[in-house]
Amino acid sequence: MARRPILEMPHPRLRSPAAPVTAFDADLKRLVDDLLDTLSAEGGIGLSAPQVDDGRRVVVLDLSEDGSDRQVFVNPDVVSKTALGIVEESCLSVPGVVGNVVRATEVRVRAQDASGAPVERDLSGMEAVCLLHEIDHLDGILFVDRLSIFHKLRLRAAALARSLRGRDAA
Ligand code: ZN
Repeated sequence: MARRPILEMPHPRLRSPAAPVTAFDADLKRLVDDLLDTLSAEGGIGLSAPQVDDGRRVVVLDLSEDGSDRQVFVNPDVVSKTALGIVEESCLSVPGVVGNVVRATEVRVRAQDASGAPVERDLSGMEAVCLLHEIDHLDGILFVDRLSIFHKLRLRAAALARSLRGRDAA
């Protein structure tokens, strides 16, 4: 088990759709263990394989304070989602940005565990939101893509101001 470095935007891996897992082998088990280790080391609530530079459809969640609610979803597939809400999100791959995203807050998901056994679960609230955020990563989507146009413009203006300040300082 090991902590892996987390890729940050604009790394191209974060924009590449991940591939379905077909081999439920020792290497997949290692990936799952490393994702869980990295998630707890970072103090996050969810992490996807592309964020650690692995192109497989694997997501882990842990919304507990003490690592007691670790959930693994291999090849997750959202069967249904309802109850839209506006949630404040951030992302380990997009440091320093927080923004409001519209998400479903009740989700039924079908997936497999690390050994390939089928899993079907109903998630609600932050757990549902977090799962959808992580599944977006598997499709090359970042939460900043889902921000309102006004929020995107504000972020762009802030980045521009930072780069202008950097130029002055140089
Ligand atoms: Zn993220």
